[in-house]
Formats: sequence, C-alpha cells, structure tokens
Amino acid sequence: IFAAVEMAPRDPILGLNEAFNADTRSEKVNLGVGVYYDDNGKIPLLGAVRAAEKARLEAQPPRGYQPIEGPAAYNGAVQNLLFGKDSALIANAQVVTVEALGGTGALKVGADYLKRLLPGATVYISDPSWENHRALFESAGFPVDTYAYYDAATRGVNFTGMKTSLEAAPAGSIIVLHACCHNPTGADLSDAQWNEVVDACRARGLVPFLDMAYQGFADGIDADAVAVRAFSASGLQFFVSSSFSKSFSLYGERVGALTIVTAGKDESARVLSQVKRVIRTNYSNPPIHGGAVVAAVLNSAELRQEWETELAGMRDRIRAMRTGLVDQLKAAGATQDFSFVAKQRGMFSYTGLSAAQVERLRAEFGIYAVSTGRICLAALNSKNIGYVAQAIAAVTKG
Ligand code: PMP
Repeated sequence: IFAAVEMAPRDPILGLNEAFNADTRSEKVNLGVGVYYDDNGKIPLLGAVRAAEKARLEAQPPRGYQPIEGPAAYNGAVQNLLFGKDSALIANAQVVTVEALGGTGALKVGADYLKRLLPGATVYISDPSWENHRALFESAGFPVDTYAYYDAATRGVNFTGMKTSLEAAPAGSIIVLHACCHNPTGADLSDAQWNEVVDACRARGLVPFLDMAYQGFADGIDADAVAVRAFSASGLQFFVSSSFSKSFSLYGERVGALTIVTAGKDESARVLSQVKRVIRTNYSNPPIHGGAVVAAVLNSAELRQEWETELAGMRDRIRAMRTGLVDQLKAAGATQDFSFVAKQRGMFSYTGLSAAQVERLRAEFGIYAVSTGRICLAALNSKNIGYVAQAIAAVTKG
C-alpha cells in the first residue's frame, strides 16, 4: 500500500533547524526559529509556571478525562485575557471558548467547524502569512487565497491594498487576521486601521478569524488585544484562536484555545455543541497539564502579577534586541537603513535580505535565517548580536 507514496515536501523551518544542528561552527546562530530565547540562548521556564507546576505536583490531582471543551476555569481565564474581565460579551454569554492543542489546534478546530458551517467559503490569508495558515485551511477543505498586506517598499502594511482586497472578497469569505505581532513581517495595523477592517468586514459580510499567537509580546495584554476589542465592539460574529506557547513559554505543552463570538446565549449553546462534535471526533478532549498551569497562573492574583512581569521582561528584551541590532548595524558600517527593524513588532522582522544574502549569511558566517529574509529577534542576545550585525552589514554592503 505504500509503494507509490511520494515524499512530502520538508517543512522549510524544521529543515533549517536540521541544517543548523549539523553545522559544526561554534559561532553559528539560528535566526530561523519561532521561539523566544532568553539572553543565555535558552527557552525560559517562567517562575509563575514553575510555582503553578509545583503546587500541582504536590496536590497530586487525579487524571480523569477533561470535559470535551476543557475546564471552565481555563476557558473563562482565556476570555478575560481576550475581552477584558468586564466585557459585555462575556456577561451576555455571547462567547464560546474551548481549550485547544496550541494555537495550531485552535485554528484547525475552527477551520473544521467552519467547513461544516460554510462549506462553500473561500479563506483569505495575508500576503505573506505564517506558512502553516494556508496548509491548515486547505487541509480542512477550503480554497485559500490571499489579501494584500505587506509593502516591501515601506516595510509596513499596504493598507490601501488590504482594503481593496477585502472589499473584493465574496460575501461569506473567511478572513484570517493576525491580531498582533504579524508573523512573518512584524508589521501591524494601527488602531484606526483595525476599525476600518471591522467596517470592511461588516460591509462585505466577511467572517473574521483572528489569530492571537503573541498577546503581550508587542505592548501589553490589553494593548495587544486592540483588534479583538475592535471586533467585540462591532456587534459582528467572529472567531479567535489563542496560543500560550510564547506568552507562557509552554511550546511543547500545546496550550491554546478557540473562541467564538455569537449573537447571544442561545446561539452560543448551539455553536458549542457543534464545536464539541468536531473535538470529540478528533482527540476527544484536551490534555490536562498545560491548561491547568495557565489557568492556575491567570486565576491567582499573585501568580498573574508574576507572569505579567515576566512577560514584560520578554517583551522588553525583544525590543532591546531590535534597537540594539539597528545601532550595531550602523556601527558595523551597514550602508542600508535598518531603522525599520525597531518599528516592527513581535518576535519577527522581515529584514529585506534577499535569498542570496540569506545564503551568504549561512555559508560565510553560520547564521541561519528563512530564505524570505525573516529573522527572529528573540534568537539574538548580548553575546551574538554584534556578530550578527557585522555579518548582515557585510552581506548587504554595496
Ligand atoms: N499562529 C501564528 C501566527 C504563529 O506564529 C504560531 C506559532 N508560530 C501559531 C499560530 C501556532 O502556535 P502554537 O505553537 O501554539 O500552535
């Protein structure tokens, strides 16, 4: 039965990691990853997470099945983060949240449910987008198209193009939006632009699906929820996927959630019943540990404070790496203006490096980046930033 099976294409980023691991140069740097590293180049174990895990270990809770949708304490905490705890949507029971296996799992449960709800829809993702968006919605059975997003000339958002794309999308299309910290470009919409996107979705009857993978990595919990809050105030129905991989540094625990805003309590009950069917036939119910840790942190005043301080520390370190890289590129005699790197948000920057320049970084310096020129700022640290700046200056001179 396997004789005619073809080799699937390699995941571009995981392939990069393999090449990096095989590189024997001691000065090598992997800027291709999508993970936050601390200044020692390590994935941090947050103090708030450690405390919550210790308490769980001591309590020795039994390991029964969870509810299909995950525990209420977790789902409620997710809703508070997204909408603010005084949200009228929550009070009106217009919000359905289910725990999911990371942000990816949330997107997939949402996509599978949408395929049942709107089988003829087309999905629009930003051009460019996180590379898994297209594959994920295609594997749920949707045709996937793009809306204009990145403007290479300004290294910002081509907002006129984006609006034109949205206005041309057929009614009922699903629009996947990066709620903050756009991956891969680092270019986000302004608050005013979000309001215009809300208006465009309303005018065209589009179905917004906000992907929130980096809440707290740009400006803070509430500031980074500006897109979610703009849609909340609109009266529209929409989807949100949440990921706690980065904000809690819990990548491998697979902690995320799918949230759906409905028109009211009765609709919420019916929608939840359908989403539960999708989950039940996929993995039945979510694992316990990661969600329990996140819920314990978010529902304890003390641990939540500790987490917010640690989250701010990660955010500040990324910012310091952005401004540090700009300064060190200048000091290294870079002939190009890289000041845009300090204006971009989140973990990533579209540097404008060509595929050939990225290849020179790898071959001559042992510095690995995605061929599109995307680098992860959180892979920089006080020890490697000077070396990386010199290498980028060298390959971009002329
Ligand atoms: N959406 C975006 C935009 C992402 O960058 C990522 C993670 N790189 C995800 C979703 C998936 O997150 P998770 O690892 O929690 O599945």
